[in-house]
Amino acid sequence: MERIIGKYGPPQSDLLIFCLAGMHGNEPAGVRALEEVFAHLYQYRPPVKGRFIGLRGNIPALATHKRFLHEDFNRIWTEGNIRIAREGHAHSPEMKELKAVFEEMDAFMGHPYSQRIFLDLHTTSGDNGTFIVAVDYPHSRNLLDKFPVPLILGLEEKLEGTAITYFRRQGFISFALEGGLHQDPQSTPVLAWGIWTVLLESGFLSPVYMPDLSETRLHLRHKFANLPQLLSLDYLHRVRPGDSFVMRPGFKNFDKIHEGQHLADDRHGPVLAPSAGFLLMPLYQKEGDDGFFLVSPPPH
Ligand SMILES: [Zn+2]
Repeated sequence: MERIIGKYGPPQSDLLIFCLAGMHGNEPAGVRALEEVFAHLYQYRPPVKGRFIGLRGNIPALATHKRFLHEDFNRIWTEGNIRIAREGHAHSPEMKELKAVFEEMDAFMGHPYSQRIFLDLHTTSGDNGTFIVAVDYPHSRNLLDKFPVPLILGLEEKLEGTAITYFRRQGFISFALEGGLHQDPQSTPVLAWGIWTVLLESGFLSPVYMPDLSETRLHLRHKFANLPQLLSLDYLHRVRPGDSFVMRPGFKNFDKIHEGQHLADDRHGPVLAPSAGFLLMPLYQKEGDDGFFLVSPPPH
């Protein structure tokens, strides 16, 4: 597997759009979506205003269809780890991937772009998981408000070492798009729609060169018509090793939850919702440290 999925547009551009897919090896839909978008660009060769680059994240994990081999690749993007990886002291397969991604990025990051956008593509183990994880919403809202899917705020402050936080600190407009269920064939077109939306709304591509995405857009508008567009994190249930955490069956993303609702079980007994809200990312896979999240509309 190659690190680079695709590159398009002149290197000496003002705008950089950088996409990562497959940070989690059990989430190949983002890789397929980028492959589709680049195939379309290579076939029709539209004129563009900017440089667009797509990379694979965790290649050994993608090759074995595992979320990760040793540690979650999307929790190690800290200054300290990046320095260690760059110095060649990678202590895990994921730290080696971090080094490899930075070596690839060094080839194009040096150029003085006036605008930079980072998009991280994911899918979820629970159903109905189409949403955006935003960082620094005031800075990114001009772009993110164009997406008719829920925007989740405040999640990044609770999660250490994610790529979107790293790129935000580097001055990027930075966000993650969750496309839906890992194994749902619809997750790939949803993620591809997200990429095209960024290419269009950033001014990279003129609308006349866009494929027709009205069906996906309409589908998402209907699906989320009754949900608030902005939701902020109230609670994150962390899973520790040995907790034997098991989510109760049947929960989906954005299920309405009441305070005290029995959501899961672990070695201490029933896990109850500490507050009312909407459920996010119920954990239905073996790997992962986050059992579930609760979100609600932010206070005005
Ligand atoms: Zn993921």
